[in-house]
Amino acid sequence: MTTLTAPPGTASVRDRDVPVGLFIDGAWRQAARTFAVLNPATGAVVAEVADGTPAEARDALDAAVGAQKGWRDVLPRDRADLFHRAHRLLLERRQHIVEMMTLESGKPLAESDGEFQLSADFFLWYAEQIAHLHGSYAHGSRGAYRVVTTHQPVGPCLLITPWNFPLLMIARKAGAALAAGCTVVVKSAQETPLTCALFVEVLADAGFPTGVVNLVHTTGSSALSAELMADPRLRKVSFTGSTGVGSTLLTQAAAHITNASMELGGDGPFVVLEDADLDLAAEQAIVCKFRNAGQACVAANRIIVQESIAEAFTERFVALTEALRVGDGFDPGTEIGPIISAKQRDRVVDLVAGFADADAELLTGGRALPGEGYFFEPTVFKVHDRDNDLCRQELFAPVATIYTVGSTAEAVEVANDTSYGLAAYVFTKDLSRALAVAEQLDFGMVGVNRGIMADPAAPFGGIKASGLGREGGHGAIYEFLEPKYLAITVDEDVLA
Ligand code: NAD
Repeated sequence: MTTLTAPPGTASVRDRDVPVGLFIDGAWRQAARTFAVLNPATGAVVAEVADGTPAEARDALDAAVGAQKGWRDVLPRDRADLFHRAHRLLLERRQHIVEMMTLESGKPLAESDGEFQLSADFFLWYAEQIAHLHGSYAHGSRGAYRVVTTHQPVGPCLLITPWNFPLLMIARKAGAALAAGCTVVVKSAQETPLTCALFVEVLADAGFPTGVVNLVHTTGSSALSAELMADPRLRKVSFTGSTGVGSTLLTQAAAHITNASMELGGDGPFVVLEDADLDLAAEQAIVCKFRNAGQACVAANRIIVQESIAEAFTERFVALTEALRVGDGFDPGTEIGPIISAKQRDRVVDLVAGFADADAELLTGGRALPGEGYFFEPTVFKVHDRDNDLCRQELFAPVATIYTVGSTAEAVEVANDTSYGLAAYVFTKDLSRALAVAEQLDFGMVGVNRGIMADPAAPFGGIKASGLGREGGHGAIYEFLEPKYLAITVDEDVLA
């Protein structure tokens, strides 16, 4: 499927060129070493990609710092025009980018296409906000002066993205940062650098000025980002990934009081109350749990069902799970692709063994599939004993766990029994009951009779160990802006 070809810095993947270098100061650059990107459906090498070093990351930051003033001063209309040009180019390259996502992340083509649409919509959302950024003007509380507020870009940003939504994460972060007038260094995830490269190529081809967007890939994330975090010229880090790495970055951010936004892990409770539409709840639980083979921070991590309807719900949910078709994302009809890597697949094998050892009841699935790809059967457990560490961890796998509770109050108590606070879900036909429960759930987002929530108009993000800040919605661009207040003396006597 893959041949590495000239010109240097590109590979031919599915007969189309893909940049495989680092993008620094407006040019694609080779590195001394490369690493292999694998197709998780086959284990085959997709391409060899430049393995960036901390020194190259510093070059990228130098470029971002050098471009910052010029980019900040680009007029809002001109900046928005560039965004619109990039958005058009992105749509023109849809098929290529969608196929690349499936190739390196394994997700089925339909899912990659859905992610593409959402990413393009996020990018457009930020484009539309550029010309609408505003300040304010007010009288001083007790003096002859005026309070004028404006906003200025925080400055050069480091954007660190994960592999599970390779296009959405870069589009959502870079869209907001660039719209705000910040320059960026993006660090892609090692598993999915090529989708990020195609996105950055779109920005470069659209005419974003030299140095405004930079991209580094690496097998040494920890050393590379530590180098940048130690540099006081870096003014913001925006990270999506695990809570552990987020915590390390926050510690590093303390050194120079670097602004930080964190989209971290989740332990989403999916609450089905006794008056819910059970067909709808089961169908939405399938999407919420098994999309992207369960590798989503907002996935239903614990399905919490009221006793009186537990059997009826479980029957429906297990039947739908057993009907899911697992396979290569390029095969029409595939609904669940592979796990991202052999290492993650082995983690899922251990996880399932752990639940079995804890006397959870295996209702379906439970096995890794033989072959070169990293496939795992969609699996459902009924959990009887909640006092187990496994029940408090993010599964990040095609493994569903069902818990039974008595009252609505108990459902809320169990749902909140977690250190995370990203997404929760509640299913009931009674709106007032839904609101009462939603208000008590300690989560940043609550889906009411819905298992999917991401939308450019919505503030996406979590509380507690799930993060700081929001992406999307009206406020998201302000995550990359600092308010500035001007106190202006007014000589009111001139009118006397
Ligand atoms: P991860 O934290 O290992 O990796 C995420 C990114 O951080 C990758 O680019 C990785 O290379 C980089 N990284 C790893 N170690 C680093 C270090 N020491 N310093 C700097 N960067 C480092 O997580 P993952 O396994 O790639 O992704 C899964 C996690 O991400 C899950 O916990 C999931 O919930 C979370 N996630 C959260 C959201 C959200 O919006 N809240 C979205 C997607 C994924």
